[in-house]
Amino acid sequence: MNAKKLSAFLLAAAMMVPCAAPAQAAFAAETTETADAAAVTEEAAEETAETAADEAATATATAPKYVFLFIGDGMSYPQIQTTNYYLNAIEDDGDDILTSESKLNMMNFPVAGSAQTYDSTSFCPDSASTATSIATGHKTYSGTINMDETMQTPYETIAEKVKEQLGYKVGILSTVNLNHATPAAFYAHQASRSSYYEIGQEMIESGFDYFAGGGLLSPTGENEDQTDLYQLAEEAGYTVVKTKAEAEALTAESGKTIVIDETLADDDAMSYDMDLEEGEWALADYVEKGIEVLDNETGFFMMVEGGKIDWACHANDAGATITDTVALDEAVGKAVEFYNEHPDETLILVTGDHETGGLTIGFAGTDYDTFLTNLTNQKISYAKFDSDYVAGYKENKTDFETVMQDVTELFGLQAPQGTTETTNQADSKDEHPEGEESGTLVMTDYEYQKLQAAYEETMSRTGEEEEFGQEEYVLYGSYEPLTVTITHILNNKSGIDFSSYAHTGLPVEVFAMGVGQEQFGGYYDNTDIYNKMAAITGVQ
Ligand SMILES: [Zn+2]
Repeated sequence: MNAKKLSAFLLAAAMMVPCAAPAQAAFAAETTETADAAAVTEEAAEETAETAADEAATATATAPKYVFLFIGDGMSYPQIQTTNYYLNAIEDDGDDILTSESKLNMMNFPVAGSAQTYDSTSFCPDSASTATSIATGHKTYSGTINMDETMQTPYETIAEKVKEQLGYKVGILSTVNLNHATPAAFYAHQASRSSYYEIGQEMIESGFDYFAGGGLLSPTGENEDQTDLYQLAEEAGYTVVKTKAEAEALTAESGKTIVIDETLADDDAMSYDMDLEEGEWALADYVEKGIEVLDNETGFFMMVEGGKIDWACHANDAGATITDTVALDEAVGKAVEFYNEHPDETLILVTGDHETGGLTIGFAGTDYDTFLTNLTNQKISYAKFDSDYVAGYKENKTDFETVMQDVTELFGLQAPQGTTETTNQADSKDEHPEGEESGTLVMTDYEYQKLQAAYEETMSRTGEEEEFGQEEYVLYGSYEPLTVTITHILNNKSGIDFSSYAHTGLPVEVFAMGVGQEQFGGYYDNTDIYNKMAAITGVQ
């Protein structure tokens, strides 16, 4: 054991002391125990490794049997708070913001902490390195999964450790592809997150018990000439299930399973929650089934990723961001139901890997006002609008007036009625006293001209463009100009805005409930999420 590992181990051992208390006592005394934990941490640095090992044995005896780790990809404070305010706004119809309450399950957890997310590359990290930190307690470069900075040494993950050392069953769920960066960081070890085939091979080799979510990327390799990953999975003893009916039929006796969502959407991910058809399974359904499949006497570890919160934020689609955050929270609700049946044996964590999009509540055009109920007019995600509408516009050379009819129907935005005089606060309450609470969806001339210019840009593009000018990129990112301009205008008229098409350096939340919850208060590093989980479960 090297010095760095030893000190991490000692730190982990120190944190076990308060966890040894029964869970219910811990609930009552979380403040003092957090202070105690800090004091014990310092003392423990001087302890011998043998003492630490003794304590590890004690901790294992009281470790949570059931651990849920929810990761909202790209979900930081802005995503959570915007979602909560939105839910309050639609309930109150903006009548009385003082009644705003915490409507999300995660916001009602007894312990909340914050984690900084920088990685070896950037203050604005990516999902591969941040998930590596959460899963293993190590920093590495953006794009790298569970390998050190020299790309020589792999790191063992918390999921691998609880399986090997404690005999827990393991479930990995994601709304995006199961070999995408975040889920991969719990079973794979690759210099590049883009090595999808190799990551898929490691997924099969993991022997984990339940995988569920979006389809595998590159299932036959980059050149489509390798043995199909699903076939390899079946040869390795997995049951591969690709329909809802088969998924429904799974039980605790089904053995190792890979469940691929029946109705795949953009990039073979699950649909955005707002695009789900009646009866289609959402993330919460996969969590509920996962609990049924994984439940056993020894225990289980379940990682659940809301992966498309990130994708929606990249695209600056606030509506889809909010509904996918709600979908993740409903999945959290399933874990809370399980917790209520096993309160002394369960730990639930909800965190994000990084913030995406630089989302904020407030916009220059609305000053101090927000009109979040405007977002209820959005009926479709940016991605489904691209595939189901914009592709057809380009093919049929649809005229702008016809396109505007769809824009009004699907996003609520209306063409200007007569000439509007545009002021710098055109959408504030002062300018629209008639829509004081609900705001307006009638575009100003300025907004309408922007939308028209974006339409022209979309219609002129061939799809082969690789380089964009500075102005084009700031306006549209790498997205369909028409679509991203629609969501920009709707976001802004709702009083919210994005500053980036990439990730940002904001810290993320860590909500905790259950056995060991008191460890997660405070402001710390994302590597400590692993350190605390390892300490509580007693793995080394
Ligand atoms: Zn991202």
